[in-house]
Amino acid sequence: MTTIQYPASNDLRELVRFSEKDGTIWLADHRMVLMHTSALGALRKELIGSVGKEHTRRVLTRMGYAAGVRDAELAKRIRGSQSLTDAFFTGPQLHMLEGVVRVTPIHLKADFASGEFAGEFLWENSWEQEVHTREFGQSDEPVCWSQIGYASGYTSAFMGRFILFKEVECVACGHNNCRIVGKPLEEWEDAAEHANYFESDSMLTHLLELRNQVDYLRTTISQQAAAPSLVGNSTGFRHAYDLVQRAAGTQVSVLLLGETGVGKERFARTLHQLSQRKQGPFVAINCAALPNDLIESELFGVEKGAFTGAQTSRIGKFERADGGTIFLDEIGELPLAAQAKLLRVLQEGEIERLGDDRVRKINVRVVAATNVDLQNAVKEGRFRSDLYYRLNVYPIQIPALRERVADIPLLVEAMLARFCTLYEKKLLGVSDKTLQAIKRYQWPGNIRELENMIERGVILAPPGGWIDLEHLFTHVGEVANWECQISPAGNLENKPESSHTASLLDAILGSGIPLEDLESRLLDEAVRRADGNLASAARTLGITRPQLQYRLKKKDGG
Ligand SMILES: [Zn+2]
Repeated sequence: MTTIQYPASNDLRELVRFSEKDGTIWLADHRMVLMHTSALGALRKELIGSVGKEHTRRVLTRMGYAAGVRDAELAKRIRGSQSLTDAFFTGPQLHMLEGVVRVTPIHLKADFASGEFAGEFLWENSWEQEVHTREFGQSDEPVCWSQIGYASGYTSAFMGRFILFKEVECVACGHNNCRIVGKPLEEWEDAAEHANYFESDSMLTHLLELRNQVDYLRTTISQQAAAPSLVGNSTGFRHAYDLVQRAAGTQVSVLLLGETGVGKERFARTLHQLSQRKQGPFVAINCAALPNDLIESELFGVEKGAFTGAQTSRIGKFERADGGTIFLDEIGELPLAAQAKLLRVLQEGEIERLGDDRVRKINVRVVAATNVDLQNAVKEGRFRSDLYYRLNVYPIQIPALRERVADIPLLVEAMLARFCTLYEKKLLGVSDKTLQAIKRYQWPGNIRELENMIERGVILAPPGGWIDLEHLFTHVGEVANWECQISPAGNLENKPESSHTASLLDAILGSGIPLEDLESRLLDEAVRRADGNLASAARTLGITRPQLQYRLKKKDGG
């Protein structure tokens, strides 16, 4: 067997210059850097932890590829006039000089004229394998990702066509050496699978695509749910519902007003389902949930190459909602540039994707919603007045939950039925005491808050039993009694003056029991009811255990 010999590497070693004074290292005119492999190992670990193995592999492969391309340029400059083999060996020799890996050629056949290439190399002392094994132990698959990227990038740039290298053995998998084989992409059977790692791929695009899919599925699922889920019979509710019903028969844009959590999206959905567009899509977006620099591309779509990172064309929400209804929640948060485009949709029924000059006609009903004063926003210059007037043609005020107390029992019943099905639980219902507390509460978070609370109650209530106060509200144990109110924070608090307290005071004062005696009897009774458990008795009395102990001692003369 003939071994392939490298040419002497003096010409390459001379390219390396350390310029300590300038804080620079050079390989010819490329700036290099000495780095700790352990630091690179930490980076690798972080990457794998945050974006997963596949994306990390892609990033590192592409990084290696870029380095390989640089070194191929160098090879042509330094050894361009030598034999093809000697010129090609610049790559493997630089890979060694750069401290990456020891490379031994096993087989090399290359021809510029025909573009033919076949190469096999043995790798020893791969830094990447060492670092990977240190962090992750043995692997099922080869791990020298950036090095494979380098070999592929170098050879592709050298040969002028895509030569794909594959690691067929790797020390990380238990082999004695790493071994790589390279040939033109088309000659690999699994070309597509491997070429994938050389293509850029933005995580963000993936995430946005996934979110679109989720939105779409959610829409489809909720559209399958038969009846609109609006529940209510109070005057305020009926008035709003009536306005929705009348808007449904027309094409008018609707502006839904009301506090957060009043169910604006549900009203929008109902409007959609009552309209002739009900077979079309319903697309909901919260304008406040999107970062400013993404909102336009999200709403109106983007053409490939419109900006860095736009690697593929993507359709926007408006196109997705074509033939249906788009619901823009928190419209007040829309940036001014997007407001101008929205106005164009409303006036002309036209959109342009970002980076595109094609005008697309769309047919979408816009339902916007806000919980802020848009007029104020117009005054402050944050909202276009022309857009405001356009949207405010048909405003519908959705009442807050505390303004429709009459609907609470109906709502609670509907929610109970839904959550009991969801959690496969049978319950008797909400106890009267609890319903009373629910009606008294101010519900700053409106229906959404009530819904969350009922869900919690369904989870916490004993199977076959009632939902009680302590299943709904936190911090209820100490103070549960009839005369409680729930604070805006959702905690139960004693109601200061109540008829119950008043009659209790009447009884005590009428009894003529001295104060000291009264305290003593109260303490004894609490301890008796708690079966002698002082901690529990103290809780009933609303004091701490040491306080109770102190008082007991004092009364017994201790
Ligand atoms: Zn390897």
